[in-house]
Amino acid sequence: MMWINITVMFLTAAFMEGVAWFTHKYVMHGFLWILHKDHHDKHSKGWFEDNDLFFLIFAIPGIVLTYLGWYTKAESVTFWIGAGITLYGFMYFFIHDIFIHQRFKWLSKSDNRYFKAIRRAHKVHHKHIGKEDGECFGMLYVPKKYFDQFKKRAAEK
Ligand SMILES: [Zn+2]
Ligand SMILES: [Zn+2]
Ligand SMILES: [Zn+2]
Repeated sequence: MMWINITVMFLTAAFMEGVAWFTHKYVMHGFLWILHKDHHDKHSKGWFEDNDLFFLIFAIPGIVLTYLGWYTKAESVTFWIGAGITLYGFMYFFIHDIFIHQRFKWLSKSDNRYFKAIRRAHKVHHKHIGKEDGECFGMLYVPKKYFDQFKKRAAEK
């Protein structure tokens, strides 16, 4: 049934936000800090960062599951789990790499409240140069306080 498949895909994408948060906090700022470090100190010379390896690491389960799902059974839920992981990967790249860090110069002047809150939260994450004591490890989920700042500003006007 199609609606179950679509639901599975979105639930998987939502679950991936938790996986991304966990990985960012405990792996990238943990034993694999060596790969994430250049995303925080911005000393990498080229367009690519060592940090981009994480994108490949996360892409592999998405590709493997969609492939297996597609070639085993037409209506396999495996395919839709893989599709959810891949969907999350695209959203993460779009928000984090394109919108926030402007690796392509798109949407730099967006007035969307959600986009602005997400960017502010991630800039707070980047204020911490070191491995320890970070905050805002998530990406698509934005803590409420970053939305509340808009209300405060609007009220002051
Ligand atoms: Zn980080
Ligand atoms: Zn590097
Ligand atoms: Zn970043």
